[in-house]
Amino acid sequence: MDIRQQQHVNERDYVLFPWSVQSKVNPINIVKGEGIYFWDDKGNRYMDFASQLVNLNIGFNHPKVIKAIKEQAEKLCYIAPSFGNEARAKLAKKIVEITPSNISKCFFTTSGADANENAIKIARFFTGKQKIIARYRSYHGATFGAISVSGDPRRFAAEPALNGIIRVLDPYCYRCPFDKEYPQCHIECAEHVREIIQFENPDSIAAMIIEPITGSNGIFIPPVEYMKRIREICDEYGILLIADEVMTGFGRTGEWFGVNLYGIEPDIMTMAKGCNSGYVPLGIVAVSSKIAEYFEDKMLYCGLTYSGHPLACAAALATIEAYEEEGIIENARAMGNLLTEYLKKIKMNHICVGDVRNAGLFGCIELVKDRKTKEPLCPWNGSSAIMDRIKEELWNEGLYLYIRWNYIFLAPPLIINQQQLEEGMKLVDEKLHMVDKLIS
Ligand code: PMP
Repeated sequence: MDIRQQQHVNERDYVLFPWSVQSKVNPINIVKGEGIYFWDDKGNRYMDFASQLVNLNIGFNHPKVIKAIKEQAEKLCYIAPSFGNEARAKLAKKIVEITPSNISKCFFTTSGADANENAIKIARFFTGKQKIIARYRSYHGATFGAISVSGDPRRFAAEPALNGIIRVLDPYCYRCPFDKEYPQCHIECAEHVREIIQFENPDSIAAMIIEPITGSNGIFIPPVEYMKRIREICDEYGILLIADEVMTGFGRTGEWFGVNLYGIEPDIMTMAKGCNSGYVPLGIVAVSSKIAEYFEDKMLYCGLTYSGHPLACAAALATIEAYEEEGIIENARAMGNLLTEYLKKIKMNHICVGDVRNAGLFGCIELVKDRKTKEPLCPWNGSSAIMDRIKEELWNEGLYLYIRWNYIFLAPPLIINQQQLEEGMKLVDEKLHMVDKLIS
């Protein structure tokens, strides 16, 4: 019997859902996707303003990627990672071409979390040091090492976490932890990192891991000087800089990578999601030539059975081809500029909007109860009936977006056009009028 043809199965009966109290799970069952839209099993259509969690950069069912996966599956579906793998070789070469010039080799994984796990291990092997600096408002994945270097409250249940993680405050300009304003602040948030390094003993610190733009903790876009200063501080103390590009990579910000916005070269870059638009699981750890050379005569103690799976690599090659041939990154930049304009208007027109931020199609609206006090509409790590209502109503109106605490995230697929962006932002704008009324 063909198991796939059997009667409908209630998934809740057999599957443990991630990040959920199981009895409360009520997922949208996606049955079809096309471009920026998907359909549920009741026939409802949604415009995906979250790109399936900042993943689906080129939209559902891109013909080039589907064709590449099919062709690879027919040719050769699996090779263990220690064998030569043509798709993996071509992909590594392409990644080296599109990343900053110091990056020279790639190690392949299967997700963002295990890319970060391996980046941490590589940093420790290379430097011979142990501690890792991470930021409080950060997320690097749910595996044990990755959640240990995340500041996000999702780490709480996994604690006590790995030893030797040092957390520092964030470049969150709207709520500056030092109560300063840019540019008079002289980037105190970076100097704070220097101070912590000194207190922790620089000779014990292997690396600092950062998201070039903070993702699921609220889209913080640090000033260019912050990133340049962090790069200098790391160099000064012999600390490696790991850029987690899992969300910011592959055109999301209107540039190939988040670090391009600042003109800095990290020692290690981790990638996943957008590298093949999430079609087949894949993660990448791209390292500088200095690090790559170190392992020429030393064992690399890292390995995963599905590392560089040919289906995933073929999908990534086709995705990158689409980015290049279809002007997708240019579109992300143009639509990102439009999004900036919409957001400016939204901030002007709504008393519930405290701040708006975006780089390309990586954006967020931060809601407050009161603009003067900046009291958030939902506390950090809390819940709010109003935020829940915004989400529920927008989903019912066919706009799927990601809402967390007092942040409304705006991250549609990079192939979105002006009319679609306008349509989505109009629905958001209408919802904010409702919130204005509720809080006034
Ligand atoms: N890093 C960042 C910045 C992320 O946003 C995520 C996932 N949202 C991860 C790492 C983990 O990626 P994955 O879920 O593929 O393990």
